[in-house]
Amino acid sequence: MKAIRGATTVENDTTEEIKESVKELLTEIKRRNTLKSENIICIMFSNTADIRSYYPAKAAREAGFFNCALYSSLEPDIEGSLKKCIRVMVLAETEGKIEHVYLKGAANLRKDITKKLNIAVDGPAGSGKSTVAKLIAKRFNILHLDTGAMYRAVALACMKAKVDCTDSKKVKKLLQNTKITVKFENGTQHTILNGENVSDLIRTPEISMLASTVSAHESVRTKMVEAQREIAADNSCILDGRDIGSNVLPNAEFKFYLTALSEVRAERRAKENEQKGLFQPISEVLCEIKQRDNQDKSRKIAPLVKASDAVEVDTSNMTIDEVVEFISKSIQEKI
Ligand code: C5P
Repeated sequence: MKAIRGATTVENDTTEEIKESVKELLTEIKRRNTLKSENIICIMFSNTADIRSYYPAKAAREAGFFNCALYSSLEPDIEGSLKKCIRVMVLAETEGKIEHVYLKGAANLRKDITKKLNIAVDGPAGSGKSTVAKLIAKRFNILHLDTGAMYRAVALACMKAKVDCTDSKKVKKLLQNTKITVKFENGTQHTILNGENVSDLIRTPEISMLASTVSAHESVRTKMVEAQREIAADNSCILDGRDIGSNVLPNAEFKFYLTALSEVRAERRAKENEQKGLFQPISEVLCEIKQRDNQDKSRKIAPLVKASDAVEVDTSNMTIDEVVEFISKSIQEKI
């Protein structure tokens, strides 16, 4: 006897969708494992607590799986777990290798047996990219790479070495002896500059401006983009930045471009700064944001631009949760 695992997700907690998804999941398990109905001994389901309208076991019986024992149970409501998820274990008499089946959003529960997921999120400062990307990463159980942090680390390296960020030759030379890496601990990114964790030091308005200046140089972009592509090649991940969809990962399956009115972005940034004990008048923040947008959009190499196949999301009047829901739904629909 073998145990075959599987899972799927539903978008809405409706009887119809639960019935459809259960049927699809079991049919796929049967097909991929060349099972006959009489081989199946029992089917056990568990589902997240946000699914309430129908028992998956009942849906299985109605889909024709009635010659075996069926069982449904409810999972504990654990923060951060994949939403509206139905898991299954099928016990069957079968010879040979078995294949577990993870469909839709549940594919991310088993990245070892499902395909790699690369998501690109671009947009100007304050559009919500980083916050949203972090939450999406948590929901899909994938890595979040904040690429802006890497350019910020280059800016900090220049500041420490008293190198003028506009001087491309000096910046290039400095980079030859500069090591910038990222490491992830429980989903949190740490940015390391020459062995020092600089994750907090790079979050100042001064570094924001310097990062924008230094990121225009070819030598900087070549080095950072190479490192970003390496991470994306090895991991399911969501990258946020300015040129992810257009340049770093032009073949990413999912691309989003977040925008918001500059006034709204300035207000968000000022609030963020306030929480860190940094009080800056909104007019000043707005001015910096506009200057940075300008620099990022007008540089010659990989400027901030919406990739032609990216989905644009204007977050001006949306809450973070709404943006996260929108993006998650678009992803789940396709995987
Ligand atoms: O996103 P964040 O504000 O941390 O980025 C800091 C700066 O780094 C940006 O203003 C931009 O100039 C640069 N950057 C970039 N390409 C990226 C990410 C950030 O040029 N992919």
